[in-house]
Amino acid sequence: MMHTQVKEGFTSRALRCVLAAALAAGCFVASAGLAFAQSIDDLLSEEELALAEGGSSASARSLDDFWRWPLPGIGEDHISQDFWSGHGAIDIWAAEGTPIVAARGGIVVATEATNPQELDGYGNCVVVYHEDGTESYYAHMSRRDVNKGDRVYLGQQLGLVGNTGNSFGDHLHFEIRVNATPDEFYWGERIDPLPYVTGHDYDVSQNGVWFSDVDFGANAQWYAPWVEQAVLSGLMEGAGDNLFQPDSRITRGQVLTILCRAAGADGAYGNGVNDTPFDDNLPGQYYTGAINWAYNVGVAEGNGDAVSPDDLVTREELATLIARYAEKVRGVHSTAPASELAGMDDADEVSSWAVGHVAWAIQADIITGSAEADGSLLVKPSGNASRAEMAAIIVRTVDAVG
Ligand SMILES: [Zn+2]
Repeated sequence: MMHTQVKEGFTSRALRCVLAAALAAGCFVASAGLAFAQSIDDLLSEEELALAEGGSSASARSLDDFWRWPLPGIGEDHISQDFWSGHGAIDIWAAEGTPIVAARGGIVVATEATNPQELDGYGNCVVVYHEDGTESYYAHMSRRDVNKGDRVYLGQQLGLVGNTGNSFGDHLHFEIRVNATPDEFYWGERIDPLPYVTGHDYDVSQNGVWFSDVDFGANAQWYAPWVEQAVLSGLMEGAGDNLFQPDSRITRGQVLTILCRAAGADGAYGNGVNDTPFDDNLPGQYYTGAINWAYNVGVAEGNGDAVSPDDLVTREELATLIARYAEKVRGVHSTAPASELAGMDDADEVSSWAVGHVAWAIQADIITGSAEADGSLLVKPSGNASRAEMAAIIVRTVDAVG
C-alpha cells in the first residue's frame, strides 16, 4: 500500500522526479516518482515542529539532535552516491560484513520479510520508526539482526553490509523519510540524510552519547552512566543543542512520556486527542498520547479534572508514579512498610500518602538517599526531581521490574 501524505505547503517546494538512476556505483533503489524536500523543517508546520520538540522550552528538542552515522569507523569519503533527484538516499560503500547500527533509537516497523512488495529492490533491509515521525531505512544487508517490533537503541547493530537486492557492490543504502505514522511502514517523503548524520559533535567511542554538559570521561558526574543507559535504551532523549540539561527539573508530562516508552507503548504517541477526564491534557501536545496511556492503565490518576502536565514533580510523587507503573504495567507489588525508610534521616518528612511507595522504591534500590556533607542521608521527598535523577531512576526501574 503506497502512502501519499504530501502536506499542504510542501507540494510547492517538492521536487518530483521521474528520472531513473543511471550513474555512480551503488544502487538504483528509490529512483522514480518520489517526493523530495530540502530539509525536515521544510516539511513540518510550526505546530508540528512544536509537537516534535516536546513541549516546554526547558526540554525543547531539536529534530536533528538524535542522529548518528550508521557505519561506525567508515568515513564520509565512502559515500558512493549522494542524495539526488533520482536517488532518495545516500550510498556508503564498505566491505561485506561491516556492522550497520541504528542511526537513531526507535521501533523496527518493517523488514524485507514483512513488506516484500513495498521493499522490492532493497534486499535484506530494516525500517526503523522514530518518535518525531521520521523513519530510517537500511538496505542491501548481507545479514539482518533485528525483526519487526523490536525496539532498537541508538547505536545498536541492525545487521551487516552486503549486496542484496538491486545493488551492485557491497554498500549501505541509507534513507530518512519524514511525516511517518507510528508503528507503520511508510512510503513517503525522503530528505537528504547527510546533514542529519554528520556534523554533530558525536563521540563514537562513547557509543553515541555526546552531550556537552555530561562528562563521560575521567571527570564523569555520578549520573553519567545513567544518562548513557537511559538514552541508549531510548527511554530519554537529549534537550537539544547537544545538551542533556541534567539539572533541569522534570515535569509530570515528561515523566509520563518516559514511563510510556518504558512500557513499550510508543504507539500512543500517535494519538493527539485527549482521551481522559483531565481538562489540561491538551490535544496535540508532546504528552497527550502518553497521558492517555497513563490514565488508561492507571499510572496517572490526576487530581479531579487536572493532571497538570507542566508541573514539576517531587521525588515522592515520582516514587508514586514509578510504583504505579511497576504495579499496573509490570504486575509487581510495589508497596513496602515504612520501616524501609529507617536509614533516611528525613523519613518523617515523607507524606503519609507516599510512604508505602517511597519505602518500596528505596527497598528496590530505585531511589537512593542523598549523602550530605554533614553525614546525613536524605530522601528529600518534597524536592523536585532533576532530569539526571530521572535518568538514574528510570534505568533502575526497568532493571528492577522490566
Ligand atoms: Zn542507494
